[in-house]
Order: sequence, then C-alpha cells, then structure tokens
Amino acid sequence: MQHFPVFVAVAGRRIVVSGTGECALAKLRLLLKTEARITVVGTDPIDAVRKLADDNRITLIERSFEPGDALCSALFYAANDDEVEDTRVATIAHRECAMVNIVDNLADSQFITPAIVDRDPVTIAIGTEGAAPVLARSIKADLEERLPSTLGILARIGKGFRKSVEVLPMGRKRRDFWSEFYFKSGPAAIEADGETAVAPALQSLLDQHVNAEEKEGHVDLVGAGPGDPELLTLKARNALNKADVVIYDRLVTPEILELARREALMIDVGKEGFGKSAKQSDIDAAIVEHALEGHHVVRLKSGDPTVFGRLDEEIDACEAAGVAYRVIPGITAASAAVATLNQSLTKRDRNSAVRLITGHDTRGFAEHDWRALARPGEVAAIYMGKKTARFVQGRLLMHGADPMTPVSIIENASRPDQRIIATTLVELEPTLTEANLSGPAITMLGLAPRAAAQISQTLPKQELAQ
Ligand code: SAH
Repeated sequence: MQHFPVFVAVAGRRIVVSGTGECALAKLRLLLKTEARITVVGTDPIDAVRKLADDNRITLIERSFEPGDALCSALFYAANDDEVEDTRVATIAHRECAMVNIVDNLADSQFITPAIVDRDPVTIAIGTEGAAPVLARSIKADLEERLPSTLGILARIGKGFRKSVEVLPMGRKRRDFWSEFYFKSGPAAIEADGETAVAPALQSLLDQHVNAEEKEGHVDLVGAGPGDPELLTLKARNALNKADVVIYDRLVTPEILELARREALMIDVGKEGFGKSAKQSDIDAAIVEHALEGHHVVRLKSGDPTVFGRLDEEIDACEAAGVAYRVIPGITAASAAVATLNQSLTKRDRNSAVRLITGHDTRGFAEHDWRALARPGEVAAIYMGKKTARFVQGRLLMHGADPMTPVSIIENASRPDQRIIATTLVELEPTLTEANLSGPAITMLGLAPRAAAQISQTLPKQELAQ
C-alpha cells in the first residue's frame, strides 16, 4: 500500500483550491459535501464557481495565487488544469505546510482523493492508487446500488442512541441489536412512517432485546477450501462474517482470514512457533469453552473439514458439552488439484472409484490396499504425502504398478504460487526431493495434466509453469 486511507477532520477548517475552471469545480462538488470552509483562488471563474461564491458556499478570491494563500489550510488542491501553474502554486502551498494534492498528478501529490460512496455519516472511500480508476468507479456503482439510501439517516439516528444500547452486554448481543436495526426494523420504520418513526422503532427494538432470553453459543465447523478465497462457499463466508471467535489452522490463508468479522477473536491453533501445532484436545477444549460462553465459534479448517481434518473429535467434544454445531463443507485439496490439471477425479472407462489417502497416520507410514491402487487406471489423491513418497512408490511398484503411471504433484493448489509438477511413479521420489516444496502439496496418482497427458509418455518429468 503506497497510500494509507484515513478520514481527515475538516469541519470548520480551511480547504484551499487553486483554480476556477471545470477541473476545480469537479473537486469543489466533492469538497462541498464536507463542513470545511472552502476558499477558491484564481482569475476568470466559470459561472458555476461564481454562483457558489454568490450563494456563500465558498470564499472566492479573484486574483492569481500568492504566497500566504494556503496558510492554515488543512488540505490544498492545485486544480488549474495547467501544469506550470499547478507546480507554481503547489510550491507555495508546500512552503506553507499544507497537505498538497495536484489534480491528475499522482507522483507529486501528498494525498489523493478516493472515489466516495456517500451515506453520511457512513462514508466509503475507494482507492486504487491511481492504477484503475475504472475499477474504482465500478465498485462505487456496485456499492451505491447495494446500500440503501436511508442508511445515512439510520446511522445518524443510531449514533444518538448508542448510550442507551449500553444496557445490552458488549459483544454478540449488542451486535445482534444493531444489525437488526440497520437491516430490518430501521429500514422498515422509515418505509412505513418516515424518519420520525425511527426513534420509537429503536426504543421498542431495544426493549425486545433487553427482555430476550440469553442466546446460546454454537459452533460452525467450516471448510475454508484450498486457499483461494473465491473458493469459499457462501455459507462459509456468511459464517465468517458473523463469527465472534475464529479458531483456524495453519493452512488457512491470510486472504481468507481477512474475511472474518473485524471484531472477531482470532485464534491460531496451527502455529509452529514452538515446534508443534496445538494439541487436538486443546483445540477441542477451546471450541467448547468459547461456545459455552455464548459465542458463535467458527472452527475454520483448510479444504473440507470432513477430509483428514479430525472433525469427529471436535464434533464429539461439542456433543459431550451439549453445544450445538453444524458442518459447512469446503472444497478439498483433491478437487482443487484435479481442477488445475483439467482432469476429473472419476472418468468413464478409466476409474469408477477414487481414493483419498493419507501418506501417514498416527502409527507412521499409512498402509493401504496397495494391490488395488496398483491397478492400471486407478486414481488416488495422496494427502500429507511429501515425506512418504519413497514408501508409497515402493509399495506400489512392489504390487505391480506400471512404473510409467502418471503422477502429478500440486503444490499450493488454487493459490497464486501454485505449482504443478508432472512426473511418473518411478520418478516420484527424486522429483519430490528436487522440487523442494515449501507449501502444502497433494500427489495425484494416475493423473497427468490434461495438456501433458496428450504428449507422449517419453517425457517423464515436466514442470508446468502456472
Ligand atoms: N481438510 C483438508 C486436508 C487437511 S490435511 C482438505 O480437505 O484439503 C493437509 C494436507 O492437505 C496437506 O498436507 C496437503 O497434502 C493437502 N492440502 C491442503 N491444502 C492444499 C493446497 N492448497 N494445495 C495442495 N495440497 C493441499
């Protein structure tokens, strides 16, 4: 981020604009939304600017900009539509310690003006650091459409009511109250009887909430998918949006954690700081403890929680403590991996079954039905297989698997740093060693990337650029 978004307090302060033409007028339209005192300096104002002065909305000084004009201003705009003049006035304003924006000159500006969605006091600023103004405009249009025009009125009335709402305990109860006000009873009151109906509606909603029975906590066991936030289900996103507490694993990406409600307590149980991740029994205890305190707990697990996720232990803990829970499935690494290969997990006349297997289990190397897995056309997704490649390879070859069986390793599936390594069974172990994987990786036995599958088998090892 080269520009840090802040909201500048401008009520009662000076904002100075150098320029009296269309370029200045465009800025003035925005600045006039504020409670700042606006001064415009320049010769030959266009009619619209003169009218603003006649209506006492701005102070117009009709002469060219001089030293002293930017003194004590919070913000300064050089908006002359003339590079030489803008540079001249900006130099003066700099000397007078104003924060300077030169219109259409990102490099020499100390601040930039974002695209704004105005539901005052709710204001949304959208910036692209000058990279994509079209994108900013389309996001703005999207938000304008989505946010009811009454939002500003509700927020203003709501603000005056904040103190009274302190009778509700902080946290979920208070949040539930406000969310019902902004999205249900508030808009309904305005629609039915106009602005005057909002305050009584607020009061009666508060009475309802004060008298409501204590809500119980609950747990969502949520699949975070393989890493790409767009591969989250809508249900998972909604749960994250509402969570009081998010307990997450090491493989959950920062982009997904960003989607959690800002006030949510984020608990990392996958940290490897002291060598190991948290013990499963501690994770179970944390889930239950927060839920019993009445919180909405999201237990966020990579991929699908039902695949190598120790889900059952967490469910058992919830059941033992009498805590309500639900499972929200996610896209498992194997699904993301085959998608990147442009292949299917099952295919008519090739394999009518697919196995999800783990490279190791609690006892060490995991044993499987190797004879079945060694048959031509078999497909298996090997999770947690990085360190067990030699073992898997040995077992399969021992049970008669074709050494040229295609194998694909997908590291960081669905993430920007995704890698696909196409190899064969006989090359699996050396390929893995050479690849020096640092991210999570899944091995797809029996599958080559579609493009590589069409190339002859004489190319045993191939790394595909992504
Ligand atoms: N519940 C998860 C699996 C957890 S076990 C799921 O459904 O995907 C952890 C293993 O999953 C890792 O060792 C790796 O084999 C695999 N994995 C998880 N995310 C992955 C990703 N983005 N790319 C490749 N493999 C991944």
